[in-house]
Amino acid sequence: MKNNIVSRIEQIQRRILNACQKAQRDPHTVKLLMATKTVDPDRIKIALSTGQTLIAENRIQELKEKYTALADTPHISHFIGHLQTNKINDLIRYEVSCLHSLDRLELIQKLQSRLEVQNRTMQALLQVNTSQEASKFGCHPDEVPALIQAVLSCPRIELKGFMTIGANSTDESTVRACFQLLKHLQTQSQEQFQIALPELSMGMSHDLEWAIEEGATIIRVGSAIFGERIYTPTTS
Ligand SMILES: *Cc1c(COP(=O)(O)O)cnc(C)c1O
Repeated sequence: MKNNIVSRIEQIQRRILNACQKAQRDPHTVKLLMATKTVDPDRIKIALSTGQTLIAENRIQELKEKYTALADTPHISHFIGHLQTNKINDLIRYEVSCLHSLDRLELIQKLQSRLEVQNRTMQALLQVNTSQEASKFGCHPDEVPALIQAVLSCPRIELKGFMTIGANSTDESTVRACFQLLKHLQTQSQEQFQIALPELSMGMSHDLEWAIEEGATIIRVGSAIFGERIYTPTTS
């Protein structure tokens, strides 16, 4: 089990290097975020023992369940799932440093006010539904300027950039178009608001090379490290 996870991480690092070489990018500009949904704390600790530090859950329930078990293992937690506003306090309580799924005005306003009460700050990325698949969360690309405008009046939220999930397609140009759109929104927003929004969270196990070639600075990888996920029924 151990060698498996360790060698799969090495494999991902090679894939990152190759993609960076092809795109003529410095590999240090691409961070690996390990998506740990359905992965138990012992296996997460093996992954963290390789020197990787970034992990992410997509459900608050799992964040909560693993929090104590991982407390003594240095790591940084991001959150990559859809977030209901009544779970904002859990993000703060379980020390999430960056929320990748900021996608609507109500969430922006409530996050700001909860952070204010707790006297904390949080990094965030604006999630954009670049494929416009109905099953996906994220704001419409046209909503980006208004949402950035809103975040700019929220001093507790440190907006770092954008996140997207590529189209659920095996067609390279269809998937790449999603990443290109996110890059375009970044360029446009930085210009319009005269601010730095350096992070682009895009690319997963099956499309990370395309994402890196299109400018990803954070890739979110789960199954290529931990194997195919086995979902167990839950009540939440
Ligand atoms: C699970 C998940 C990933 C990782 O997906 P893999 O295909 O397993 O690499 C990336 N992003 C989000 C938002 C996820 O929920």
